[in-house]
This record gives sequence, structure tokens and C-alpha cells, in this order.
Amino acid sequence: MNDLTLARQTMLNHHLLDRGIEDERVLAAMERVPREEFVAEQARDHAYDDRPLPIEEGQTISQPYIVAFMAQAAAVREGDRVLEIGAGSGYGAAVLGQLAARVDTIERIESLAASAAKRMSRLDYDNVRVHAADGTRGLRELAPFDAIIVTAAGPAVPDALREQLAIGGRLVIPVERRYGHQQLVLVTREDDGSFTERDLLGVAFVPLVGEHGYRGATRSE
Ligand code: SAH
Repeated sequence: MNDLTLARQTMLNHHLLDRGIEDERVLAAMERVPREEFVAEQARDHAYDDRPLPIEEGQTISQPYIVAFMAQAAAVREGDRVLEIGAGSGYGAAVLGQLAARVDTIERIESLAASAAKRMSRLDYDNVRVHAADGTRGLRELAPFDAIIVTAAGPAVPDALREQLAIGGRLVIPVERRYGHQQLVLVTREDDGSFTERDLLGVAFVPLVGEHGYRGATRSE
């Protein structure tokens, strides 16, 4: 076993399983996707550390536990059509791509979108499409989605995203409840079209910047 294989096993057993990630499909996806391919060359040895890592443009690749937690909370099934907002490195989208039929992921920073798209084709993740745009508007032309996962924290759940959920669909999004305090929220579209909302976990994400997020340049930019 090389060091990265060992680190990947530690991630699975201790950072995921021990903390309650039990969905076998999620665990298998986390085992399959090579996280070292999504981080900067000099961070490869730390790819499986139990923390977020910096990527370009001052953004981050989420901690493995959070990627797995969000995928599990969104209950992504084979055959699902998934929308991700905040492609970043593309790692989260690649994991979701192992679970769903198709993933569309949106990134507002063009250079990040371009390098994520390049990675997807190099690694043959051909059910993942990367779009450079403001994800707070969703992707109306491809809606509805069975699951929507947002990997940046907004001031509220954007209505545009709620409306693009299929009946039975799940939206997982970090929302800033009070200054600096974020909660991961699960929104479910019920059979009668109404929405239920549940807080899942305290989290720390970069800001969601856009028309239905924080407007213009904010704190971390
Ligand atoms: N899922 C990513 C984590 C990315 S961090 C990964 O696995 O690497 C969050 C990303 O959201 C950042 O790249 C940031 O630029 C992006 N982002 C912020 N606001 C956005 C918006 N309105 N639309 C699309 N992407 C946005």
C-alpha cells in the first residue's frame, strides 16, 4: 500500500464511517474518486487530511466528511439528475457523479470552471458538466433536479433553487443564520409541492456570491 492508499483508508474508516457516514454508495464513491487529482501539486500528500484544502482563487476544496455528509443528506440515487453550485476543484461533483446519472455543476469564477472542466475530461468523468455562471439562479433550462447541493454559504435559501427541485427533490445548502454562524439546511419538496426545511449541522463555507446570494465583493474576496 502506498501512503495515499493508506491515507484514503484512514479517511474512510475514521473520518467518515466512525462519524456516521453509513451510506454504502457514498462510501464507495469516496473510495473511488482520487482526491489527490483535485488539489494543488504541493498539497497531494495532504489530499486525504481531515480538513478543507486551499485551491486557486482563494477558494477551498471541502473537507472529505462534509462532501460525504452532503451527498448522504441529499440521498442521491442512481438515475438522479443533480445540480451542484460551487464546482471549485470539481471534487464534489466527481463524487456526486458516481452516485447519480448526471451532474451539472456551476462555478462563478471562470478560471476555476475551466480547470474543473479539464479535470473532468482528463479523469473521464463524462456524466459531469461544468458551467461558468452565477449558480444562485440555478440552471432553469435543465430543471427540475432530484437533488441540488450548494457548496458555498448564502444569506438565505434562494427561491430560484427551491423552484428547480423536482417533487420529492432534496436541496442541501449552508445558510448564514447569524453573522459568521452557518447551518447546513436540508430542504425537501413534498408530494404536494410544499417545502419542508431542517437544520442538519453547523458548518464553515466560503460565501455564495451572486444575484440571490451575497451581492458583489464580500468578506473573503
Ligand atoms: N465543491 C467544491 C468546493 C468549492 S468551494 C470542491 O469540491 O472543490 C465553493 C465554490 O463556490 C468556490 O469555488 C466559489 O467560487 C463558488 N461560488 C461562490 N458563489 C457562487 C455562485 N453564485 N455560483 C457558482 N459558484 C459560486
